Amino acid sequence: MAVKFSDNKYKWAIALALSTIASFCSAQESRYSFEKGMMGSPFKLVFYAKNDSIANVAAQAAFKRIEKLNELLSDYRDGSEINLLSAQSGSGKWVQVSDELFNILAISQDISEKTDGAFDATLGPVVQMWRHATRKGIFPADSAIRDAMSRTGYKKLKLDAKRKKVLLTQKGMRLDIGGLGKGFAAEEAVKVLRSFGIKSIMMDAGGKIVLTNPPPGTKGWNITISNGSDSLKTMPLSHVALATSGPTYRYMEYNGIRYSHIVDPKTGIGLLFHVRTTVISPDGTVADALATAFSVAGIEKSKQMIKQFPESRVWLVEKQEEQVAEWNTLE
Ligand code: ADP
Ligand code: MG
Repeated sequence: MAVKFSDNKYKWAIALALSTIASFCSAQESRYSFEKGMMGSPFKLVFYAKNDSIANVAAQAAFKRIEKLNELLSDYRDGSEINLLSAQSGSGKWVQVSDELFNILAISQDISEKTDGAFDATLGPVVQMWRHATRKGIFPADSAIRDAMSRTGYKKLKLDAKRKKVLLTQKGMRLDIGGLGKGFAAEEAVKVLRSFGIKSIMMDAGGKIVLTNPPPGTKGWNITISNGSDSLKTMPLSHVALATSGPTYRYMEYNGIRYSHIVDPKTGIGLLFHVRTTVISPDGTVADALATAFSVAGIEKSKQMIKQFPESRVWLVEKQEEQVAEWNTLE
């Protein structure tokens, strides 16, 4: 039996084809880039959007989200939610907290357990002590280190997931989520951008990077990773997060020795040797926390720890005087 197409049907087909072409053309997206100093670091946002107005509104909403997180989570702000929570340590009170604070502490505690405490968000008293010491250029006394250390320990932080409540069991505790806060902020900013229909995103929150779809027509975002000296790697990446922890301007130098702002929770002292760690994980908060944890643990222990994180990859470079040791599972 012959099939007849009516004129109308042809018209309909042509109209459909034209509208498909038109929508393809209007879907052409341009690259947008924004930068802002936040959480003490440069934050950079690159994404593809249909037009300037969507791009501007989306970028502003993303930065606003990060500002809000900073208000809640910064230990530099007197009235931040995290500092108000710390102020109730030792009161025996389970404190109701925001979803944001609860979620970040839940991730933090999970990582602490899996890294045998190499990552520890209760190091606040020790971090504070080192910040003062760095400012004054005076090495803290043993007794001060001991006192600060006695008020730390992730097992003293209890979470009630059902009611989103937190208990800090000892007086004088102080939370510090600096080791994963930027990764968390990057993830939250990406959520905001996605809510505007934006799909290809690179959010770089001070070296903690979250990537979604590749730029249109490409295999991935070309990300260059350094081991801190000569060796560089450029990889096309998408749908992952990566975080680098390394020697920055934030260290203390005393008697010619540099102490990192990353503290070993076992000793209460800043890491002594230069270590640069890059971690690639499915999630930005986890990548950020692991970059800090593996820096503390060093190559040998990290090789054991990474078994708990089968989806994560790492490039860890340790420099002790002139000795350099590397461990690389990125490829
Ligand atoms: P940065 O943010 O400077 O790139 P990190 O992600 O490694 O580096 O975070 C370092 C910050 O984490 C410190 O400034 C401090 O606030 C906190 N911190 C230090 N040592 C630890 C640790 N062992 N576990 C968790 N957080 C830590
Ligand atoms: Mg970190």
